[in-house]
Amino acid sequence: MPGYEFFGQEERKEVNDVLETGIMMRYGFDGPRKGIWKAKELEAAICNTFSCKHTQLVSSGTAALTTAMSALGIGYGDEIILPSFTFVASFEAVLSVGAIPVFVDVDDTLTLNPLAVKNAITNKTKCIMPVHMCGSMADMDALQAICKEHNLLLLEDACQSIGASYKGKKLGTIGDAGTFSFDFVKTITCAEGGAVITNNETTYINCDGYSDHGHDHKGTDRGADLHPFIGYNFRISELHAAVGLAQIKKLDDFLSIQRKNHTAIKNALATIPEVSFRRIPDESGDSCTFLSWFLPTEEATKAVVAELKAQNILAGNFYWFVNNWHYIKKWDHLKNAATLNALHPHLKAAVMHHATKDFSASDAIICRCISTAIGLTWTDEQLKTKCNQMVNAIKKVLSEQKATA
Ligand SMILES: *Cc1c(COP(=O)(O)O)cnc(C)c1O
Repeated sequence: MPGYEFFGQEERKEVNDVLETGIMMRYGFDGPRKGIWKAKELEAAICNTFSCKHTQLVSSGTAALTTAMSALGIGYGDEIILPSFTFVASFEAVLSVGAIPVFVDVDDTLTLNPLAVKNAITNKTKCIMPVHMCGSMADMDALQAICKEHNLLLLEDACQSIGASYKGKKLGTIGDAGTFSFDFVKTITCAEGGAVITNNETTYINCDGYSDHGHDHKGTDRGADLHPFIGYNFRISELHAAVGLAQIKKLDDFLSIQRKNHTAIKNALATIPEVSFRRIPDESGDSCTFLSWFLPTEEATKAVVAELKAQNILAGNFYWFVNNWHYIKKWDHLKNAATLNALHPHLKAAVMHHATKDFSASDAIICRCISTAIGLTWTDEQLKTKCNQMVNAIKKVLSEQKATA
């Protein structure tokens, strides 16, 4: 799954190009950098790979979300609809621009339930933010239709689904803007980094300025840049961009290995009648970084996860195990609106209200879901062993449960 599994010569070469000149800053120093512009080159490669007009690299996926929201004009008091199953960065970004995260239930796609989205729209709603979790996509036709009907922005958090597509379009290029993360555990990595992609020129110009202190990048030198608006420093360094440049060239290879391993595990699990799979709105577009599957009951799921864990097989369940990062049930800090800065009382009340609603429909799905991360470096032998181990563990637990029932 993550790009760090195939880190080598190519990354070293790109980083060395930067170290040779010593210019680690992405802007300026035109003479001494001797034609080395890794961030610019990576931005062009991203536009080319994902067929989008504009790319703004930034320092992280979280920074990409904050930058995209600001560039789209989202701010104080605006409501952004997002799923109950995501990564904490999604709501951190919403709060960072003073907006209100309005969580809604996921369905068996593990992403936004379009009906729940519709029901959550108010006169303050400004944006719908699908999060394409675990390598696969939300129902974009349904979400686009809702955005059109209600005149809302569509921002895709595609941080976990680089290279996936929906009906021939790359995820991240369908909405008004999309974001990628290149942190250390993502499909391709810069160590730390992120990108906003968009086909809208104004949105791009806003991202370009916002991520670099509001500089308009039109001056004869940096000192002469004008500042049409206030920005921050979310710049990526040339060193990080250099790593990303090597990684993006490997993306197609990563995806084809993932698809092969994913298919093998899916075929093995499909032999068990009690196992069902995540619904994928466009199967052919799945990036296959994870295989997400369901068991019929919470009890069976819990027991299978424990059994797989005992056998040293990673099996992600975001309801009780693995980590506290991805599901709303685990976010007490959000439910308490525990920030280090004073939140405006209205904002605080709204944040707490929306984080503590009833998510039983999501609970019923997430508590039965297991996400298996697909490795890139597994040998055929290891893959075969893994498939057998998983099938045997599931069968063992199911038959034990049947015996005691
Ligand atoms: C990783 C991730 C982010 C944030 O990316 P960072 O680069 O780690 O800041 C945002 N959203 C989702 C869904 C992610 O998985």
